[in-house]
Amino acid sequence: IIKLSNRVQSVKPSATLAITARARELRAAGQDVIGLGAGEPDFDTPAHIKQAAIEAIDAGFTKYTAVDGTPELKRAIIAKFQRDNGLDYAPEQILVSCGGKQSFYNLAQAVLDPGDEVVIPAPYWVSYPDMVLLAGAAPMLVQAGAEQQFKITPNQLRGVLSEKTRLVVINSPSNPTGMAYTAEELTALSEVLRDFPRALIATDDMYEHILWPARAPFVNLVNVCPDLLPRTLVLNGVSKAYSMTGWRIGYAGGPASVIKAMKTIQSQSTSNPTSISQVAAQAALEGPQGCIGEMLTAFKERHDLVVERLNAMAGIECLPTDGTFYVFPKVQGLIDRLDVVRDDLELAEYLIEQAGVALVPGSAFGSPGYARISIATSRDNLERALERIAAVAA
Ligand code: PLP
Repeated sequence: IIKLSNRVQSVKPSATLAITARARELRAAGQDVIGLGAGEPDFDTPAHIKQAAIEAIDAGFTKYTAVDGTPELKRAIIAKFQRDNGLDYAPEQILVSCGGKQSFYNLAQAVLDPGDEVVIPAPYWVSYPDMVLLAGAAPMLVQAGAEQQFKITPNQLRGVLSEKTRLVVINSPSNPTGMAYTAEELTALSEVLRDFPRALIATDDMYEHILWPARAPFVNLVNVCPDLLPRTLVLNGVSKAYSMTGWRIGYAGGPASVIKAMKTIQSQSTSNPTSISQVAAQAALEGPQGCIGEMLTAFKERHDLVVERLNAMAGIECLPTDGTFYVFPKVQGLIDRLDVVRDDLELAEYLIEQAGVALVPGSAFGSPGYARISIATSRDNLERALERIAAVAA
């Protein structure tokens, strides 16, 4: 028997990827499974972005680049932070990585030690707790259910912060809940954070652009409280806004010392992100932004359809969101009504095997009794999936 590291045994594979894999398996076996598990837009990468990459290949831009990203892409990121977020960064405050996932991974490896605590509001993006565990630190989960719009309160934050807190994670708009903190809510949280100067803050703005117009403009913690900037990492990427999940480009802006440490981690793991993807990301950030609006309109229409239909089903309650391409209905009532399932994990299993609908159980995000439905699929697929779920609920 081959002994695996204690480190790898402390974590689990991404649950969202597992559901997508199971749906693919069933489909390959000839079953009609509608996938509502995807964590990526169903749109193609815009043509001008693909064209930039093709030209980069033709021009022979296919070699190592600087570990932390090409100067051109870093310039585009700095301009983006100025334009969209009113933030001014110098080049040594920017790190380009292989997706937003690697940005957070680098951060965890760069700042966390055993004994450190990381505050993570739940429901959370599946990877935060496991990346914290891989760094040897302890995730401190703060539960925020539908009754509080899935957002943590200042009192909850104060209750969990301590001298051991090394990092606080804010993800708004949120995967999986689709909720975004308002400027007032962020201000209230930052008043608590001011009392704990040792804690770094990570604001994960990955879904910044997927925010309904009525909820715009986007604000993050450092927009409302610039005094927190010296200890805040702003994480973002091109994956979701430009439908570029496969290109693997994420980026971080923050204090130069932390960015430098993250770069050191990256230099001893992946080195630079793919040269071609960096050119594509630059085209995304510098090119026309109309593609985002087109996606947003489609997502909002689907959101309205799905929220309305779900709420008409017995045992399901679904809050309208502020953005993203997820909704996070409470399904506990349905679980209670069905004799054959005991919890959200069994419900997800039942739906995929018996009804041909793949969604991700809330437990994967730290919130049992809920489910995440991705609306990043065609309206037709959504209508058919909703009919199937309604049949189970009836
Ligand atoms: N942050 C959040 C909240 C996400 O939902 C995701 C992707 O699912 C990421 C970061 C990472 O994105 P990627 O590594 O694909 O750029």
